[in-house]
Amino acid sequence: MKYITVIGLEVHAELSTKTKIYCSCKNSFGSEVNSNCCPNCTGMPGSLPTLNEKVVEYAIRMGYATNCTINPVCKADRKNYFYPDLPKAYQISQFDIPLCEHGYIDAVVDEEGNTKRIGITRIHIEEDAGKLIHSESFSGSLVDLNRCGVPLIEIVSEPDMRSAHEAKAYLDSIRAILQYLDISDCKMQEGSIRCDVNVSVMPEGAAQFGTRCEMKNVNGFSAVERAIEYEARRQMEILEAGGPISPPLGRPGGEELPAALQGGRPGLPLLPGAGPGGHCGAGGAAGGAPGHHPGAAGGKAAAVHEGNRPALL
Ligand SMILES: [Zn+2]
Repeated sequence: MKYITVIGLEVHAELSTKTKIYCSCKNSFGSEVNSNCCPNCTGMPGSLPTLNEKVVEYAIRMGYATNCTINPVCKADRKNYFYPDLPKAYQISQFDIPLCEHGYIDAVVDEEGNTKRIGITRIHIEEDAGKLIHSESFSGSLVDLNRCGVPLIEIVSEPDMRSAHEAKAYLDSIRAILQYLDISDCKMQEGSIRCDVNVSVMPEGAAQFGTRCEMKNVNGFSAVERAIEYEARRQMEILEAGGPISPPLGRPGGEELPAALQGGRPGLPLLPGAGPGGHCGAGGAAGGAPGHHPGAAGGKAAAVHEGNRPALL
């Protein structure tokens, strides 16, 4: 049987503002650990966030550049979950009213300059979490909170891509726009851009998308391509064998994906969000087929803000 691969992407880009999103701590990579943090960005009792105007401006620039509607009124929402590098146990993000939505880009897909239009469901602003430090030189883990409160935009695409090549073309375009607007340094090696990849497959001619699985925090565009090819093949083999699609390897309760899918950097978690009610559900469960990818019609809110992510993304 011939199958169609359906791909949606969530890109997290750190913004290159001078200060963080909700306090005046420096937004810089590579500082001495725990030197750029305050009671505010670490969520101490009694501290109150103050929104950095530049973050809003940068996000709106991206919204205009991707043909989005800029909502004149939007709001912030609290997404609660505990993780050791998130001391206040919630992230300030945007849920039902993002800053920008309903856009698109025309990604160049071949050397002749042909383009494919890929929808942008939404762009919202949110804060990053800290980082855990693991080393064989000590037992346990240490935490660096410098990244707490670093501003992010999350760019959620429609499930409009049909191959790893198209996904790469989309990501190249998004990066080019971010660089042209001068709002993110786009340094992959410093984690300035991370990507969550949603993949499903369906038989050619099918009316409904298949069950999707999400691979989180894929760090590198060529790693995204390899992850899509791996996951699509995995799902096709399962369907050929008559079985239901289940989560791929990954935390919690699983193994990490092979290093080959992590840009050759073993230890980077690719998180499928496989916990109860996670990202690998029956088609339509997260918002109605065929719009079951994050941000697709009817399913965007639930998919973007499912509450059981094992890491801040
Ligand atoms: Zn701070």
